[in-house]
Order: sequence, then C-alpha cells, then structure tokens
Amino acid sequence: MPRPSTIAIDGPAAAGKSTIGGLLAERLGYLYLDTGAMYRAVTWVALERGVDIGDEQAVTALARIMRIAITRPTVDDGRQYTVLADGEDITWEIRRPEVDSHVSRVSAYPGVREVLTEQQRSIARQGRVVMIGRDIGTVVIPDADLKVYLDASVEERARRRYLELLERGDEADYDDTLSAMKRRDRIDSDRAVAPLKAAEDAIRVNTDNLSIDEVLSVVEGIIEDVDSRIEEQTHP
Ligand code: C5P
Repeated sequence: MPRPSTIAIDGPAAAGKSTIGGLLAERLGYLYLDTGAMYRAVTWVALERGVDIGDEQAVTALARIMRIAITRPTVDDGRQYTVLADGEDITWEIRRPEVDSHVSRVSAYPGVREVLTEQQRSIARQGRVVMIGRDIGTVVIPDADLKVYLDASVEERARRRYLELLERGDEADYDDTLSAMKRRDRIDSDRAVAPLKAAEDAIRVNTDNLSIDEVLSVVEGIIEDVDSRIEEQTHP
C-alpha cells in the first residue's frame, strides 16, 4: 500500500502538533522533525551569548554559523528528541519562558527563516518524514503528500500549556500563559514572511474536545484516505 511520504502538520502553539506528530512518526516508522525547536535553538543561543534579539543582522548571522542538530533522545528524561547547538545539549533550555517570549521575534527575521527553511527542506527531500511547524505546508514543503492543520481555541491551548508547565515543576499562572499565547499567535500570524496559516489544501482538525487518541485516529483515517487516493492515481 503506498503511503504519504512527506507529512506536514501545522498549527498554533499547543494545538497538539508535537504529541500527534511524534506518535504518528513512531507508528509509521518515519523521521519526526519539530521545526519549532530550530527557531527556539537560535533564540536560546542568542540569549545565552548576549546577542541583542532586536538586532536582526546579528541574530541572522548567528543562525548562519551555528550548527543545530536534532537527534533521537540521548537521555531518558521524558524528552521527545535531543537538541544540540554546536554540540551542546540545549533540549530543555529551549523550553524556558524567556525563549517563549522572544522566539516569535527571531522567527520573523527573513534571513533566519531562509537558513532554517533550507535545512528543513533538505531533510524533507529524504522522504518518510513527519514535519511540524507553522509554515510547513505553505512554504517548506508545499508539495507535501499530506497536510494537516491542527487548531484549538486559545483558551484551551493556554490551559494545556499551563498544565504542562506545572507538570514540569515550573511556576505558572494561567492568565499570564493565556496572554503570552495570544501575543505569540498574533506575531506568528501577522508577520510578513511565512505567517502561520493553513495551506489551502490542508485538512483542518479542531482538537478542542478531542483526546490525543481521538485526534490520532482522525489523522490516521485521513492517511488511509490519502493512501487509497495515491493507489487510485498509480493504478487507475
Ligand atoms: O512550535 P513551537 O511553539 O515550539 O514554535 C516556537 C516558535 O517558532 C513559534 O511561535 C513560531 O514563532 C516559530 N516557528 C515558526 N515556523 C515554524 C515553526 C516555529 O515561525 N515552522
């Protein structure tokens, strides 16, 4: 049975992309790439090295020279993958609130997007990949075999992020989480280059009232439909 080889999952923060993307890649035996981790890696390294986040040229130059590697988990501590920046493990650092508050600014810089998009495309060219982000179906792999757009209300997404922070033992406040989420949505959707939006041919799934298992079976159902469409096109 043919299968969609390149799967793009886009949507706003905490819509369920990483959980669904990771599980789907595992079931299909595909590579899983969370492109948000790459924008986060540039942001964290800039903060750590004292690069002014407002200095577009400096941040872009950093994105060009730094080496980001996303690998299978190297430590058994609940991580989905390991993120290395010039060899240094920054898997948990990129989840810090200061990264949350600066990453949208960094990811709006066209030069940063150009560098990371090129790296993402070369991974996508190898096929058998589930890639998640904001612009995968629209910009990175517009010819992806399957495009899914996961969405949920901002209140539900803030609630999920808030619980996630508490679970990790971080201090969190629901109202702060909600306003940070709204702010990030706004910057991601309004930016000039590769804004957050569903591709015209993406299948939209609202995850507000669905459990992880339910979302996964909806997406697997969509894959079966795509499978049979590819089969029909190959053997009409
Ligand atoms: O998905 P996550 O919340 O980790 O992404 C962090 C940020 O990275 C997003 O808010 C967005 O600004 C940026 N991003 C992007 N394009 C992608 C993935 C993430 O601009 N493909």
